[in-house]
Amino acid sequence: MLRLSRPLFLLLGVVLTSCGKMLPARSEFVLGTICTVNLYREGTAPLYADIFARLREIEGLMSSNAADTEVARINQNAGIAPVKVGGELITVLSAALRYAELSGGAFDPTVGPLVKLWGIGTEHARLPAAEEIRGALALVNWREVIINQEALTVFLPTAGMGLDLGAIAKGYAADEAAALVRRAGISRALIDLGGNIYALGSKATGTPWRIAIQDPLDARGAYLGILELDGKSVVTSGVYERFFEAAGRRYHHILSTADGYPADTGLLSVTVIADTSIDADALSTALFALGYDKGRILVDSLENIDALFVFQDRSIRGTPGALEHFTLTNDQYRLLQ
Ligand code: ADP
Ligand code: MG
Repeated sequence: MLRLSRPLFLLLGVVLTSCGKMLPARSEFVLGTICTVNLYREGTAPLYADIFARLREIEGLMSSNAADTEVARINQNAGIAPVKVGGELITVLSAALRYAELSGGAFDPTVGPLVKLWGIGTEHARLPAAEEIRGALALVNWREVIINQEALTVFLPTAGMGLDLGAIAKGYAADEAAALVRRAGISRALIDLGGNIYALGSKATGTPWRIAIQDPLDARGAYLGILELDGKSVVTSGVYERFFEAAGRRYHHILSTADGYPADTGLLSVTVIADTSIDADALSTALFALGYDKGRILVDSLENIDALFVFQDRSIRGTPGALEHFTLTNDQYRLLQ
């Protein structure tokens, strides 16, 4: 995420109905993707404006692509000096480091040099030489990040290190958008930051939100099943999200911190259901990178987190809490218990 080259459609199709007069949902390109907020009948122009201003503010702090964000300044000062930042960046970075620890480094916010090298999702995407990958990989190590909570500084001690919050910032942004909606006293809303979904409240009395899960092997918008739930965030990380092809092979954008190549764990996608979107976003990437066996152990160790794993052989496994809300609609896939 946080790149400007994402195709202009949504990861998860969301089934929406409309009734009565209301402001239309609002969509803007921000955080490197199309973000859509739907406040239904309770939507007002000022609230929509506040929400999108907030998303832009977060992008302005956390994008690693623009030159003048807090993350960019931390990266420019790697090996040179600690950089003073706001509390918000410290909060998100601390959460990212917690997920790095929980995933044994499979999720790593210092993956920046590798992400830059591959350039997946940009027009500079290419298959790097093994030596280049080794070089970038040597700079990836979340344990080296130095946060000073009192002085509010972040320091990357080695020149060439770089933060990339692409796997967590959209989740944080969705939570912040949801907070604005709640503060306005609004009871239901759909926040969709390029497929990073927060479904607030319930869709209508007695009708849960229906969130379609992308078929990773089919065209954008084709889905394999539906999750029905209320008041949850649903985030999917998958091989179809950003990728390029070279010599007949597909290289996707979730990188293995073990070997520096796109993580190949036998999975096509992982969907995480959580109460907060920052957890769902970080964990969907973490579980994808970990693979099913280790990922399942991690998700089972966490409270109120559920996950659906889609494998390359078109089988699907999930935690009991995910399967309870999931309906398979595509007969090319099969559900395993
Ligand atoms: P998306 O942003 O496309 O919805 P993800 O949330 O899975 O997908 O985040 C993928 C992004 O996270 C990549 O584009 C890259 O910026 C970053 N990233 C890639 N590999 C890792 C990793 N192992 N750990 C943390 N972040 C990663
Ligand atoms: Mg993510």
